[in-house]
Parts: sequence; C-alpha cells; structure tokens
Amino acid sequence: MEDCLFCKIINGEIPSTKLYEDDMVYVFEDIAPEAPVHFLIVPKKHIKDADELEVEDQELLGHIFLVAQKLCKEKNLKTGYRIVNNCKEDGGQTVDHLHFHVLGGRSLQWPPG
Ligand code: AMP
Ligand code: ZN
Repeated sequence: MEDCLFCKIINGEIPSTKLYEDDMVYVFEDIAPEAPVHFLIVPKKHIKDADELEVEDQELLGHIFLVAQKLCKEKNLKTGYRIVNNCKEDGGQTVDHLHFHVLGGRSLQWPPG
C-alpha cells in the first residue's frame, strides 16, 4: 500500500525502533507511549482493520498473540500486560493498517473512556 504509514515503517522508508521481526510480523516501539512498555505488533500483510480479517488470517492472529507473549516474557512483565486492537473510528483507530498495542509496566485502568 503506497500511502500507508505502517507499510512504510515495515519496508524501512520511515524509521522505527524495531523490537522483533519475522516473515509475518514487524514489531516496534510506539512513538507516543502510554505506558513504560508500549509497542505495536503489525502484520506485514496490509490488512486495513480487524473488520477486514478473513479465515485465511487465523494463523497470523494466533502468531501475533504468541509474539506478544514472547516479548512480554523477555521484558519480564510477570504481573501482566494488555493487548489492544482499536477498530475503525469509534474504536479509536488512527492508522489504517491492522495493529495490536501491547502495554505494560504499570497497573492499567479499566474501562477505557
Ligand atoms: P491507533 O490509534 O490504535 O490506530 O494506534 C496508532 C498508534 O501508532 C498510536 O499509538 C501512535 O502513537 C502510533 N504511531 C503513529 N505514528 C508512529 C510512528 N511513526 N512510529 C511509531 N508509532 C507511531
Ligand atoms: Zn499498510
């Protein structure tokens, strides 16, 4: 996708602080962290949002959660963390390339605003 911010981050056109990469996902630090740990897990495949997911994406979704678990173990987030996906306008999505926020390092409040 030509004009997609996260596609540009994945292909290196826009710099990022990379934490992890494999054939399915790219993981980097959020530029405006909301917690001591705040990174984004982004599929390399351009999918607009969670509402566009298809049956063929099931493996990718499972993989994303296992990558989150692996990185949270490495960061020693023993007391917990949160995985968030914002979908479309009312969900608070601002970048139209599917991504999962992983937040931790402090006690997080619920419910969201
Ligand atoms: P969302 O609002 O759920 O679509 O999340 C988009 C996230 O991308 C926000 O938390 C932003 O801080 C983050 N973000 C935007 N631009 C960049 C960038 N260039 N590098 C890293 N994170 C970014
Ligand atoms: Zn994209």
